[in-house]
Amino acid sequence: MERTLSIIKPDGVAKNVIGEVIKRFEADGIQIAAMKMIQLTKTQAKGFYAVHKDRPFFDSLTDFMTSGPIVVMVLEGKNVIAKNRKLMGATNFEDAEDGTIRKDYATNIEKNVVHGSDAPETAAFEIGYFFNALEIQEK
Ligand code: GDP
Repeated sequence: MERTLSIIKPDGVAKNVIGEVIKRFEADGIQIAAMKMIQLTKTQAKGFYAVHKDRPFFDSLTDFMTSGPIVVMVLEGKNVIAKNRKLMGATNFEDAEDGTIRKDYATNIEKNVVHGSDAPETAAFEIGYFFNALEIQEK
């Protein structure tokens, strides 16, 4: 069993595709172990994306991530990190495979609907950034 952090970003919430995204997770056998809707402050967004602090898009990305509510989830399942990344599609939706969330709903490279942890170490950091142990359902 593996866990990963998923975020439906402000553009996904604004486009009313929360249910559509969750439906794809569940249809792929992924379980939701925790979930909440919140709106990030700029400081919180910068902390979450600290690995990107030297990238030219950091300020724009953290502004975007604070622009409206987001849905954060802990996803659970076998190989769920890779599974979720496959369902999401490439960062740039123009490169994403047909049938992926980003291909279907992204607006541009930044407003790309979903976030998903890319490795076990980042998943552990990202889950801990949003949830404490008591908020995550144990099997
Ligand atoms: P991810 O793991 O597929 O989300 O991609 P990255 O970790 O490389 O980037 C994090 C997020 O930053 C992406 O999901 C986009 O929202 C945003 N992003 C990535 N590359 C660019 C870029 O070139 N320009 C802008 N404006 N945003 C970007």
